[in-house]
Amino acid sequence: MSTTNISTGDMGTGDKPRPLPIEPTRPFWDALAQHRIMIPRCARCRTWVWYPRPRCTGCLGNELTWTPVTGAGTVHTFTVTRQPIHPAFADETPQIQAIVELEEGIRMTTTLVGVEPPVVEVGMAVEPVFDDGPDGITLLRFGPAKGL
Ligand SMILES: [Zn+2]
Repeated sequence: MSTTNISTGDMGTGDKPRPLPIEPTRPFWDALAQHRIMIPRCARCRTWVWYPRPRCTGCLGNELTWTPVTGAGTVHTFTVTRQPIHPAFADETPQIQAIVELEEGIRMTTTLVGVEPPVVEVGMAVEPVFDDGPDGITLLRFGPAKGL
């Protein structure tokens, strides 16, 4: 039996919960579909604002501009999940869940791909991996940097 998760929606990709782009995150998801990363930045104080929200976390201004970044970063921390948090993710275990710090200083929760758990270490250089889904949603994962 399939259920719908109201926070993420069921976008028709089996039973895996999927992101449901809504304002103010829609520009982020639209950019990912084009294999680009856009992050809000304050026009007044230049603070990068992550996660997307209506006001700057530095000065509370509302002049945020979606700005392209390369996605180059490093592993800030990680854990290896061997038990799926949802039965539909059993095919993705073990899964490396990580917080990646982009060179702009913001930290994103993500998963690492293209690398085995024993190789991952804090401080490892990573680059974006665009995971296109059949529902038109692209997930932002990260893998070992091959040189940007
Ligand atoms: Zn600001």
